[in-house]
Amino acid sequence: MQTQSVLLIVTGGTISMVSDPQTGALRPADIATFKQFVPELLNYGIHIDILAFDELVDSSDVNPEMWSRLAHMVFDNYDTHDGFVILHGTDTMAYTASALSFMLENLNKPVVLTGSQLPIGVLRSDAKENLLTAIEIAAAQDEEGEPIVPEVTVFFEDKLFRGNRTTKLSAEHFSAFMSYNYEPLATAGVHIHYNPHLVHYCNPELKLRLRTKINQNVVVLKLFPGIKETTVRAILSIPDLRGVILETFGSGNAPSDEWFYNALCEANSRGVVIVNKTQCPAGSVEMGRYATSLNLLSAGVCSGYDITTEALLTKLMYLLGENENNTEEVKRLLSISLCGEMTIE
Ligand code: ASP
Repeated sequence: MQTQSVLLIVTGGTISMVSDPQTGALRPADIATFKQFVPELLNYGIHIDILAFDELVDSSDVNPEMWSRLAHMVFDNYDTHDGFVILHGTDTMAYTASALSFMLENLNKPVVLTGSQLPIGVLRSDAKENLLTAIEIAAAQDEEGEPIVPEVTVFFEDKLFRGNRTTKLSAEHFSAFMSYNYEPLATAGVHIHYNPHLVHYCNPELKLRLRTKINQNVVVLKLFPGIKETTVRAILSIPDLRGVILETFGSGNAPSDEWFYNALCEANSRGVVIVNKTQCPAGSVEMGRYATSLNLLSAGVCSGYDITTEALLTKLMYLLGENENNTEEVKRLLSISLCGEMTIE
């Protein structure tokens, strides 16, 4: 039987951290120290190659340039590996997973992100289980030798989620991620149970394509009762602003003040793309269900349906990057689920 080959890419995060003897704070270790903690990697029945960022980082320092670097690392090693595991800090893992799902167009191999809540060298750590199960999932193939989950995913504790559906849920529990609007793609216990009917498959005839242009001129505007006109107008008049995620109440509702409507209309007519994202982690935006969201429709605001803020932010950056000044095309693509990031009934 042929041995599967997985590329492990280490970016940093708690999983690879050690305690600084001077300050006591956790800081990223170097890759040689990290490898010493997982001798199992050498003897796992799966061929594992390792690449690492030159300097491992806390994921609060991960930025779009690093998303692009990761996408290139997958692309450059695509033909020589059956799957990929990316070790990443949990804080911004959902953003990176979402960004990669858009940057790796026509992906037909597993890219599994994982990390841990405790460093790999700590006795009670969740790191080894997460890492070794993620590797097994990245290498998993069906009877025809096809990858079982050929998409960008996040594995944590015992669940495999679609990457662009995840949100960090807990800074405490080992079960740190949640996918509120989409069921897990697999559950790991004694055996790993896959749910192939939930997996997003791309046409295998299409070649992997990198889409790494990003436009960072976006903002998240979270509404709250009592938000002032000056606040909203100051945000909407940020120079070069191209996209706004409007975090609304319930099923996508917003204050019905006239100044609010006018401010949105003005931004929309300047070509700023505004997307309605509910503040509720579960459920979907339904524009027009209440009178308080009808205004948003007529101000040109797009629906974010049941997308996560992480997926919407990265999708907006990616669409604005790839489509430059074509606002209508950006709006059209926002209303389509590109790689399973939202449910449109
Ligand atoms: N601050 C860490 C990071 O995101 C937290 C973690 O990895 O769990 O890099």
